[in-house]
Amino acid sequence: MSKRQHYTVTGGAGFLGSRLCEKLLEQGHEVLCVDNFYTGQKSNIIKMMDSPYFEMMRHDITFPLYLETDNIFNLACPASPIHYQFDPVQTTKTSVHGAINVLGLAKRVKAKIFQASTSEVYGDPACHPQKEDYWGNVNPIGPRACYDEGKRCAETLFFDYHRQHKLRIKVARIFNTYGPRMAVNDGRVVSNFIVQALKNDPITLYGDGLQTRSFCYIDDLIDAFLKIMDTDDSFTGPVNLGNPREFTIRQLAEIIIEMIGSSSKIVFKPLPENDPCQRSPDITLAQKTIDWTPSTPLEEGLKPTIAYFENILSK
Ligand code: NAD
Ligand code: UDP
Ligand code: UDP
Repeated sequence: MSKRQHYTVTGGAGFLGSRLCEKLLEQGHEVLCVDNFYTGQKSNIIKMMDSPYFEMMRHDITFPLYLETDNIFNLACPASPIHYQFDPVQTTKTSVHGAINVLGLAKRVKAKIFQASTSEVYGDPACHPQKEDYWGNVNPIGPRACYDEGKRCAETLFFDYHRQHKLRIKVARIFNTYGPRMAVNDGRVVSNFIVQALKNDPITLYGDGLQTRSFCYIDDLIDAFLKIMDTDDSFTGPVNLGNPREFTIRQLAEIIIEMIGSSSKIVFKPLPENDPCQRSPDITLAQKTIDWTPSTPLEEGLKPTIAYFENILSK
Protein backbone atom coordinates (compact mmCIF):
# COMPACT_ATOMS: atom_id res chain seq x y z
CA MET A 1 0.00 0.00 0.00
CA SER A 2 1.17 3.54 -0.71
CA LYS A 3 1.39 5.91 2.30
CA ARG A 4 -2.02 6.90 3.68
CA GLN A 5 -3.08 10.22 2.23
CA HIS A 6 -6.17 12.36 2.48
CA TYR A 7 -8.35 12.60 -0.64
CA THR A 8 -11.25 14.92 -1.26
CA VAL A 9 -13.69 13.73 -3.92
CA THR A 10 -16.23 16.30 -5.07
CA GLY A 11 -19.24 14.60 -6.62
CA GLY A 12 -18.35 11.57 -4.48
CA ALA A 13 -21.98 10.45 -4.12
CA GLY A 14 -22.41 10.10 -7.90
CA PHE A 15 -21.92 7.21 -10.27
CA LEU A 16 -18.17 7.60 -10.85
CA GLY A 17 -17.37 9.40 -7.60
CA SER A 18 -18.76 6.72 -5.29
CA ARG A 19 -16.74 3.98 -7.03
CA LEU A 20 -13.63 6.16 -6.81
CA CYS A 21 -14.19 6.70 -3.06
CA GLU A 22 -14.45 2.92 -2.57
CA LYS A 23 -11.21 2.30 -4.47
CA LEU A 24 -9.36 4.96 -2.46
CA LEU A 25 -10.57 3.43 0.82
CA GLU A 26 -9.48 -0.01 -0.43
CA GLN A 27 -6.02 1.46 -1.00
CA GLY A 28 -5.96 2.56 2.66
CA HIS A 29 -6.53 6.28 2.17
CA GLU A 30 -8.78 8.72 4.01
CA VAL A 31 -11.64 10.04 1.91
CA LEU A 32 -13.82 13.11 2.21
CA CYS A 33 -16.82 13.07 -0.12
CA VAL A 34 -18.17 16.54 -0.93
CA ASP A 35 -21.57 16.44 -2.63
CA ASN A 36 -24.85 18.36 -2.64
CA PHE A 37 -26.88 15.33 -3.82
CA TYR A 38 -28.00 17.16 -6.93
CA THR A 39 -27.80 13.95 -8.95
CA GLY A 40 -25.93 11.75 -6.47
CA GLN A 41 -27.57 9.43 -3.98
CA LYS A 42 -27.02 8.45 -0.38
CA SER A 43 -27.47 4.80 -1.37
CA ASN A 44 -24.24 5.07 -3.40
CA ILE A 45 -22.16 5.87 -0.31
CA ILE A 46 -24.12 4.27 2.51
CA LYS A 47 -21.81 1.24 2.84
CA MET A 48 -18.78 3.51 3.22
CA MET A 49 -20.35 5.45 6.08
CA ASP A 50 -19.27 2.68 8.49
CA SER A 51 -15.61 3.25 7.70
CA PRO A 52 -13.69 5.47 10.12
CA TYR A 53 -11.69 6.69 7.13
CA PHE A 54 -14.71 7.99 5.21
CA GLU A 55 -16.43 11.31 5.77
CA MET A 56 -19.29 13.02 3.96
CA MET A 57 -19.79 16.77 3.64
CA ARG A 58 -23.02 18.07 2.08
CA HIS A 59 -21.87 21.12 0.18
CA ASP A 60 -22.44 22.89 -3.14
CA ILE A 61 -19.03 23.61 -4.69
CA THR A 62 -20.27 26.80 -6.32
CA PHE A 63 -19.66 28.16 -2.79
CA PRO A 64 -16.19 28.31 -1.22
CA LEU A 65 -15.04 25.40 0.94
CA TYR A 66 -12.30 25.45 3.52
CA LEU A 67 -10.71 22.19 4.58
CA GLU A 68 -7.34 20.42 4.67
CA THR A 69 -6.46 17.72 2.16
CA ASP A 70 -3.54 16.25 0.16
CA ASN A 71 -5.36 15.49 -3.09
CA ILE A 72 -8.57 16.57 -4.78
CA PHE A 73 -10.61 14.75 -7.40
CA ASN A 74 -13.07 17.26 -8.85
CA LEU A 75 -16.00 15.25 -10.21
CA ALA A 76 -18.95 17.38 -9.11
CA CYS A 77 -21.19 18.16 -12.09
CA PRO A 78 -24.36 16.61 -13.46
CA ALA A 79 -23.24 14.45 -16.39
CA SER A 80 -26.27 13.29 -18.32
CA PRO A 81 -27.96 15.62 -20.83
CA ILE A 82 -31.36 15.63 -19.07
CA HIS A 83 -29.75 16.44 -15.74
CA TYR A 84 -27.34 19.10 -16.96
CA GLN A 85 -30.04 20.76 -19.09
CA PHE A 86 -32.56 20.84 -16.21
CA ASP A 87 -30.89 23.95 -14.72
CA PRO A 88 -28.25 24.99 -17.27
CA VAL A 89 -27.14 28.06 -15.31
CA GLN A 90 -26.39 25.92 -12.28
CA THR A 91 -24.47 23.50 -14.55
CA THR A 92 -22.16 26.26 -15.78
CA LYS A 93 -21.79 27.60 -12.24
CA THR A 94 -20.82 24.15 -10.99
CA SER A 95 -18.14 23.78 -13.66
CA VAL A 96 -16.80 27.33 -13.52
CA HIS A 97 -17.38 28.71 -10.00
CA GLY A 98 -16.85 25.19 -8.71
CA ALA A 99 -13.48 24.94 -10.46
CA ILE A 100 -12.41 28.34 -9.09
CA ASN A 101 -13.26 27.25 -5.56
CA VAL A 102 -11.55 23.86 -5.71
CA LEU A 103 -8.51 25.40 -7.42
CA GLY A 104 -8.40 28.14 -4.74
CA LEU A 105 -8.55 25.38 -2.14
CA ALA A 106 -5.80 23.37 -3.86
CA LYS A 107 -3.64 26.50 -4.03
CA ARG A 108 -4.06 27.26 -0.32
CA VAL A 109 -3.37 23.70 0.91
CA LYS A 110 -0.91 22.83 -1.91
CA ALA A 111 -2.95 19.79 -2.95
CA LYS A 112 -2.65 17.91 -6.21
CA ILE A 113 -5.89 18.30 -8.17
CA PHE A 114 -7.65 16.18 -10.81
CA GLN A 115 -10.36 17.47 -13.12
CA ALA A 116 -13.04 15.18 -14.57
CA SER A 117 -13.29 16.79 -17.98
CA THR A 118 -15.15 15.25 -20.87
CA SER A 119 -15.11 14.19 -24.49
CA GLU A 120 -17.83 16.86 -24.89
CA VAL A 121 -15.03 19.45 -25.09
CA TYR A 122 -14.61 18.10 -28.65
CA GLY A 123 -18.30 18.84 -29.41
CA ASP A 124 -19.46 17.34 -32.70
CA PRO A 125 -15.94 16.45 -33.79
CA ALA A 126 -14.62 17.23 -37.24
CA CYS A 127 -11.80 14.69 -36.87
CA HIS A 128 -12.00 11.09 -35.87
CA PRO A 129 -10.97 9.45 -33.57
CA GLN A 130 -10.35 12.41 -31.28
CA LYS A 131 -6.83 13.18 -30.10
CA GLU A 132 -6.01 15.56 -27.26
CA ASP A 133 -4.60 18.19 -29.62
CA TYR A 134 -7.95 18.61 -31.42
CA TRP A 135 -9.57 21.88 -30.26
CA GLY A 136 -13.14 20.82 -30.79
CA ASN A 137 -16.30 21.90 -32.54
CA VAL A 138 -18.74 23.16 -29.92
CA ASN A 139 -21.82 25.30 -30.43
CA PRO A 140 -21.36 27.93 -27.69
CA ILE A 141 -25.06 28.85 -27.52
CA GLY A 142 -26.78 25.48 -27.98
CA PRO A 143 -28.58 23.38 -25.36
CA ARG A 144 -25.44 21.34 -24.60
CA ALA A 145 -23.23 24.42 -24.20
CA CYS A 146 -23.81 24.81 -20.44
CA TYR A 147 -22.00 21.50 -20.01
CA ASP A 148 -19.51 21.61 -22.90
CA GLU A 149 -18.42 25.23 -22.48
CA GLY A 150 -18.50 24.96 -18.69
CA LYS A 151 -16.08 22.04 -18.89
CA ARG A 152 -13.92 23.87 -21.47
CA CYS A 153 -13.69 26.90 -19.19
CA ALA A 154 -12.84 24.64 -16.24
CA GLU A 155 -9.93 23.23 -18.29
CA THR A 156 -8.79 26.81 -18.99
CA LEU A 157 -8.87 27.58 -15.27
CA PHE A 158 -6.92 24.42 -14.44
CA PHE A 159 -4.19 25.30 -16.93
CA ASP A 160 -4.04 28.94 -15.81
CA TYR A 161 -3.74 27.96 -12.14
CA HIS A 162 -0.99 25.58 -13.23
CA ARG A 163 0.90 28.24 -15.20
CA GLN A 164 0.23 31.14 -12.85
CA HIS A 165 0.28 29.47 -9.43
CA LYS A 166 2.28 26.30 -10.21
CA LEU A 167 -0.56 24.01 -9.15
CA ARG A 168 -0.09 20.30 -9.75
CA ILE A 169 -2.98 19.45 -12.07
CA LYS A 170 -4.24 16.34 -13.89
CA VAL A 171 -6.94 16.85 -16.51
CA ALA A 172 -8.73 13.77 -17.89
CA ARG A 173 -11.19 13.88 -20.79
CA ILE A 174 -13.62 11.09 -20.05
CA PHE A 175 -15.61 9.38 -22.81
CA ASN A 176 -18.97 7.64 -22.25
CA THR A 177 -18.72 5.36 -19.24
CA TYR A 178 -21.27 2.88 -17.91
CA GLY A 179 -21.70 0.43 -15.07
CA PRO A 180 -23.59 -0.28 -11.87
CA ARG A 181 -24.94 2.81 -10.01
CA MET A 182 -25.86 4.77 -13.10
CA ALA A 183 -29.08 6.53 -12.13
CA VAL A 184 -32.19 4.77 -13.50
CA ASN A 185 -33.69 8.08 -14.57
CA ASP A 186 -30.65 9.88 -15.94
CA GLY A 187 -31.63 9.40 -19.57
CA ARG A 188 -28.24 8.16 -20.75
CA VAL A 189 -28.32 5.58 -23.45
CA VAL A 190 -27.02 2.55 -21.54
CA SER A 191 -29.36 3.03 -18.57
CA ASN A 192 -32.34 3.87 -20.80
CA PHE A 193 -31.92 0.84 -23.05
CA ILE A 194 -31.34 -1.62 -20.19
CA VAL A 195 -34.33 -0.38 -18.20
CA GLN A 196 -36.56 -0.38 -21.30
CA ALA A 197 -35.40 -3.88 -22.29
CA LEU A 198 -35.92 -5.27 -18.78
CA LYS A 199 -39.47 -3.92 -18.76
CA ASN A 200 -40.09 -5.09 -22.36
CA ASP A 201 -40.91 -1.45 -23.17
CA PRO A 202 -40.05 0.11 -26.54
CA ILE A 203 -36.35 0.96 -27.00
CA THR A 204 -36.11 4.66 -27.85
CA LEU A 205 -33.56 5.12 -30.63
CA TYR A 206 -32.88 8.80 -31.31
CA GLY A 207 -32.33 9.68 -34.98
CA ASP A 208 -31.38 6.80 -37.28
CA GLY A 209 -29.25 5.20 -34.56
CA LEU A 210 -26.16 5.31 -36.78
CA GLN A 211 -24.42 7.86 -34.55
CA THR A 212 -21.52 6.25 -32.69
CA ARG A 213 -20.17 6.22 -29.16
CA SER A 214 -17.56 4.13 -27.38
CA PHE A 215 -18.39 2.73 -23.96
CA CYS A 216 -15.91 2.27 -21.13
CA TYR A 217 -16.66 0.10 -18.10
CA ILE A 218 -16.46 2.04 -14.85
CA ASP A 219 -13.76 -0.08 -13.17
CA ASP A 220 -11.40 0.39 -16.12
CA LEU A 221 -11.93 4.14 -15.91
CA ILE A 222 -11.34 4.37 -12.16
CA ASP A 223 -8.08 2.42 -12.58
CA ALA A 224 -6.96 5.13 -14.97
CA PHE A 225 -7.94 7.94 -12.54
CA LEU A 226 -5.73 6.40 -9.86
CA LYS A 227 -2.82 5.89 -12.23
CA ILE A 228 -3.02 9.44 -13.53
CA MET A 229 -2.98 10.88 -10.03
CA ASP A 230 0.30 8.98 -9.50
CA THR A 231 2.09 10.34 -12.58
CA ASP A 232 4.92 12.76 -11.95
CA ASP A 233 4.16 16.43 -11.50
CA SER A 234 5.27 17.34 -15.01
CA PHE A 235 2.30 15.40 -16.46
CA THR A 236 -0.80 17.60 -16.56
CA GLY A 237 -2.84 16.04 -19.37
CA PRO A 238 -5.27 16.63 -20.90
CA VAL A 239 -5.52 12.92 -21.49
CA ASN A 240 -8.35 10.99 -23.14
CA LEU A 241 -9.84 8.13 -21.14
CA GLY A 242 -12.30 5.82 -22.80
CA ASN A 243 -12.72 2.57 -24.63
CA PRO A 244 -11.75 3.02 -28.29
CA ARG A 245 -14.11 0.28 -29.53
CA GLU A 246 -16.86 2.16 -31.34
CA PHE A 247 -20.50 1.08 -31.66
CA THR A 248 -23.49 2.58 -33.39
CA ILE A 249 -26.32 3.26 -30.99
CA ARG A 250 -28.43 0.81 -32.98
CA GLN A 251 -25.82 -1.92 -32.38
CA LEU A 252 -25.91 -1.14 -28.67
CA ALA A 253 -29.71 -1.54 -28.66
CA GLU A 254 -29.44 -4.89 -30.42
CA ILE A 255 -26.77 -6.19 -28.03
CA ILE A 256 -28.80 -5.21 -24.96
CA ILE A 257 -32.06 -6.68 -26.32
CA GLU A 258 -30.28 -9.94 -27.06
CA MET A 259 -28.43 -10.18 -23.74
CA ILE A 260 -31.64 -9.59 -21.79
CA GLY A 261 -33.75 -11.79 -24.08
CA SER A 262 -36.25 -8.95 -24.20
CA SER A 263 -39.31 -8.66 -26.41
CA SER A 264 -38.80 -4.88 -26.71
CA LYS A 265 -39.11 -3.35 -30.18
CA ILE A 266 -37.05 -0.41 -31.40
CA VAL A 267 -38.96 2.87 -31.88
CA PHE A 268 -37.41 5.91 -33.54
CA LYS A 269 -37.50 9.33 -31.83
CA PRO A 270 -36.11 12.68 -33.01
CA LEU A 271 -32.39 13.22 -32.60
CA PRO A 272 -31.71 15.84 -29.89
CA GLU A 273 -30.20 19.14 -31.11
CA ASN A 274 -26.39 19.14 -31.45
CA ASP A 275 -26.15 15.40 -30.74
CA PRO A 276 -22.61 14.44 -31.89
CA CYS A 277 -22.56 12.02 -34.89
CA GLN A 278 -19.37 10.21 -34.04
CA ARG A 279 -17.27 9.81 -30.95
CA SER A 280 -14.33 7.59 -30.13
CA PRO A 281 -11.13 8.32 -28.22
CA ASP A 282 -7.58 8.05 -29.43
CA ILE A 283 -5.99 6.70 -26.24
CA THR A 284 -2.36 6.56 -27.41
CA LEU A 285 -1.35 9.16 -24.79
CA ALA A 286 -2.91 7.19 -21.90
CA GLN A 287 -1.32 3.99 -23.21
CA LYS A 288 2.10 5.65 -23.25
CA THR A 289 1.88 7.61 -20.02
CA ILE A 290 0.09 5.27 -17.65
CA ASP A 291 0.27 2.02 -19.60
CA TRP A 292 -3.53 1.83 -19.61
CA THR A 293 -5.88 0.12 -22.01
CA PRO A 294 -9.45 -0.70 -20.95
CA SER A 295 -9.75 -4.45 -20.57
CA THR A 296 -13.51 -5.00 -20.17
CA PRO A 297 -15.38 -5.80 -23.40
CA LEU A 298 -18.84 -4.23 -23.68
CA GLU A 299 -20.64 -7.56 -23.37
CA GLU A 300 -18.73 -8.32 -20.12
CA GLY A 301 -19.34 -4.91 -18.55
CA LEU A 302 -23.02 -5.02 -19.45
CA LYS A 303 -23.55 -8.18 -17.34
CA PRO A 304 -23.08 -6.55 -13.90
CA THR A 305 -24.78 -3.40 -15.18
CA ILE A 306 -27.89 -5.33 -16.22
CA ALA A 307 -27.83 -7.22 -12.90
CA TYR A 308 -27.69 -3.88 -11.06
CA PHE A 309 -30.76 -2.52 -12.85
CA GLU A 310 -32.62 -5.82 -12.45
CA ASN A 311 -32.10 -5.57 -8.72
CA ILE A 312 -33.24 -1.91 -8.59
CA LEU A 313 -36.37 -2.65 -10.63
CA SER A 314 -37.31 -5.63 -8.46
CA LYS A 315 -37.52 -3.37 -5.36
P1 NAD B 1 -23.26 11.89 -11.57
O1 NAD B 1 -24.35 12.84 -11.93
O2 NAD B 1 -23.63 10.51 -11.16
O3 NAD B 1 -22.35 12.50 -10.43
C1 NAD B 1 -22.10 13.86 -10.25
C2 NAD B 1 -22.10 14.15 -8.76
O4 NAD B 1 -21.83 15.55 -8.56
C3 NAD B 1 -23.45 13.88 -8.10
O5 NAD B 1 -23.26 13.12 -6.93
C4 NAD B 1 -24.00 15.26 -7.80
O6 NAD B 1 -24.88 15.30 -6.71
C5 NAD B 1 -22.73 16.07 -7.60
N1 NAD B 1 -22.88 17.50 -7.83
C6 NAD B 1 -23.45 18.11 -8.90
N2 NAD B 1 -23.38 19.45 -8.77
C7 NAD B 1 -22.74 19.68 -7.58
C8 NAD B 1 -22.37 20.86 -6.89
N3 NAD B 1 -22.63 22.08 -7.37
N4 NAD B 1 -21.74 20.73 -5.70
C9 NAD B 1 -21.47 19.50 -5.18
N5 NAD B 1 -21.80 18.35 -5.80
C10 NAD B 1 -22.43 18.45 -6.98
O7 NAD B 1 -22.28 11.86 -12.81
P2 NAD B 1 -21.02 10.93 -13.12
O8 NAD B 1 -21.34 10.15 -14.33
O9 NAD B 1 -20.56 10.23 -11.90
O10 NAD B 1 -19.95 12.02 -13.55
C11 NAD B 1 -18.93 12.47 -12.67
C12 NAD B 1 -18.02 13.44 -13.38
O11 NAD B 1 -17.42 12.83 -14.53
C13 NAD B 1 -18.77 14.69 -13.90
O12 NAD B 1 -17.94 15.81 -13.70
C14 NAD B 1 -18.93 14.41 -15.36
O13 NAD B 1 -19.01 15.60 -16.10
C15 NAD B 1 -17.69 13.61 -15.66
N6 NAD B 1 -17.89 12.74 -16.85
C16 NAD B 1 -18.68 11.62 -16.75
C17 NAD B 1 -18.87 10.82 -17.89
C18 NAD B 1 -19.69 9.57 -17.85
O14 NAD B 1 -19.84 8.90 -18.88
N7 NAD B 1 -20.24 9.16 -16.72
C19 NAD B 1 -18.27 11.19 -19.11
C20 NAD B 1 -17.52 12.37 -19.15
C21 NAD B 1 -17.32 13.11 -18.01
N1 UDP C 1 -11.31 29.21 -1.92
C1 UDP C 1 -11.93 28.17 -1.27
N2 UDP C 1 -11.22 27.49 -0.33
C2 UDP C 1 -9.93 27.80 0.00
C3 UDP C 1 -9.32 28.86 -0.70
C4 UDP C 1 -10.03 29.54 -1.65
O1 UDP C 1 -13.08 27.84 -1.52
O2 UDP C 1 -9.38 27.11 0.86
C5 UDP C 1 -12.08 29.92 -2.93
C6 UDP C 1 -12.24 31.39 -2.60
O3 UDP C 1 -13.62 31.64 -2.45
C7 UDP C 1 -11.70 32.14 -3.79
C8 UDP C 1 -11.45 31.07 -4.84
O4 UDP C 1 -11.35 29.85 -4.14
O5 UDP C 1 -12.65 33.03 -4.31
C9 UDP C 1 -10.19 31.32 -5.63
O6 UDP C 1 -9.11 31.41 -4.73
P1 UDP C 1 -7.79 32.19 -5.12
O7 UDP C 1 -6.88 32.13 -3.93
O8 UDP C 1 -7.26 31.70 -6.38
O9 UDP C 1 -8.30 33.66 -5.43
P2 UDP C 1 -8.73 34.86 -4.53
O10 UDP C 1 -8.96 34.36 -3.12
O11 UDP C 1 -7.59 35.77 -4.63
O12 UDP C 1 -9.97 35.34 -5.19
N1 UDP D 1 -29.73 7.94 -27.17
C1 UDP D 1 -30.75 7.19 -27.77
N2 UDP D 1 -31.80 6.80 -26.98
C2 UDP D 1 -31.87 7.09 -25.66
C3 UDP D 1 -30.82 7.85 -25.06
C4 UDP D 1 -29.77 8.26 -25.86
O1 UDP D 1 -30.72 6.90 -28.97
O2 UDP D 1 -32.86 6.69 -25.01
C5 UDP D 1 -28.58 8.36 -28.03
C6 UDP D 1 -28.26 9.85 -27.96
O3 UDP D 1 -29.02 10.58 -28.90
C7 UDP D 1 -26.78 9.86 -28.27
C8 UDP D 1 -26.27 8.54 -27.69
O4 UDP D 1 -27.42 7.71 -27.53
O5 UDP D 1 -26.58 9.84 -29.66
C9 UDP D 1 -25.56 8.70 -26.35
O6 UDP D 1 -26.42 9.45 -25.50
P1 UDP D 1 -26.07 9.74 -23.97
O7 UDP D 1 -27.10 10.71 -23.47
O8 UDP D 1 -25.89 8.48 -23.23
O9 UDP D 1 -24.63 10.42 -24.01
P2 UDP D 1 -23.97 11.62 -24.85
O10 UDP D 1 -24.90 12.07 -25.93
O11 UDP D 1 -23.71 12.67 -23.84
O12 UDP D 1 -22.76 10.98 -25.41
